[in-house]
Amino acid sequence: MTEQTIHPPTTASLSRLTTIQGDDRCVLTVYFPGSLTTGPKAANKLMELPENLLGAESLTPDETEHRRRSLDLWRIAIRKVDFPAALGWVGVVSWLTEDVAFMQLPVAVELAAYLDNSPFLLPAARLLDDFEAYAVVYADHARATIYLAALGKLKEAGKLRGEIKNHVRKGGWSQQRYERRRDKEIHHYCRAILDKLRQLIESERLRRIVLAGDRILLGELEKRMAPGMRKHVVCRLPMEDKKGPHEIFQETLPSAAEQERREERWLRDAIRNEHGAGGRAVVGPADTLAALNEKRVRWLLIGPMKGVDFWRCPGCGGCGLGRPPACPQCSQATYAQSAANEFTDLAFAGGSRVEFTGDDLAELGGVGALLRW
Ligand SMILES: [Zn+2]
Repeated sequence: MTEQTIHPPTTASLSRLTTIQGDDRCVLTVYFPGSLTTGPKAANKLMELPENLLGAESLTPDETEHRRRSLDLWRIAIRKVDFPAALGWVGVVSWLTEDVAFMQLPVAVELAAYLDNSPFLLPAARLLDDFEAYAVVYADHARATIYLAALGKLKEAGKLRGEIKNHVRKGGWSQQRYERRRDKEIHHYCRAILDKLRQLIESERLRRIVLAGDRILLGELEKRMAPGMRKHVVCRLPMEDKKGPHEIFQETLPSAAEQERREERWLRDAIRNEHGAGGRAVVGPADTLAALNEKRVRWLLIGPMKGVDFWRCPGCGGCGLGRPPACPQCSQATYAQSAANEFTDLAFAGGSRVEFTGDDLAELGGVGALLRW
């Protein structure tokens, strides 16, 4: 029987989920809030969830069969999963390949279900982009805590004691010796904090660091960071009093979100300038799709792509932009898919980085990318 895998909320997990594919619409994707995984009747409610969400009208006989088999597999899978805590979930089942996978989400999502030839991961990918995990160093001269900010809260990832005393007023040689010893203690303390921080960044593949706490100590810490690490520091928050993880999370979240918007703006300008200069960039659905298919995309910037049609053929698997009523290759009736989801799938399959924006990107024709070559 199939294994149920539980994935952490990372882009690596998204890439793994995009490998679940079929020519037919045989892949079921279900979004649900974490609250539905707790309580005495949780499993029963979850088991019937997609059936209620997924209309059977306008399905072909083949698709109706896929729907029935997917719902059966979903019911079996749900009974076996022991869900860890999470604010939200996306589940994917494919009865043809016997894949069952769940991924944690950083927020409580609304209920939704989709039946398609691949998982509908666009909402999940958008959420991961908007709520990207980051590292927090909260430190003063006495103690330091390193946190992982993810899934809507701070999780402790390491703790250190500094216990570095304040300056003592003395004169002469002993004072100098005292200062030297104190400098050395600060040096070792900072190096130990940075070691722990590096471990967290590497294991969680984080791109953002927030420094909070005593201003002077944070300065000492940053001075000792390698340039590669220092460029990931997105904000420095002096905090005077002792604060709990919840407070620290509430105060650091806006800076992390602001960094997200800065990155979007930077990428939009970079694509526009590079494309204007005839460099390695594409804009608009047609050119971007061609670059995605050739795996040339380094960094995709994608808006909602409303009004851009995308079709797929259930017969031969053909697909493309536009809305032909019949497949140009085999004349079967086509069905419509979300262009933004297809583009995102291709980007993850090609190892591209993806940046989502709520902006319609009118100046780029809705979508654009920086290219590898
Ligand atoms: Zn066809």
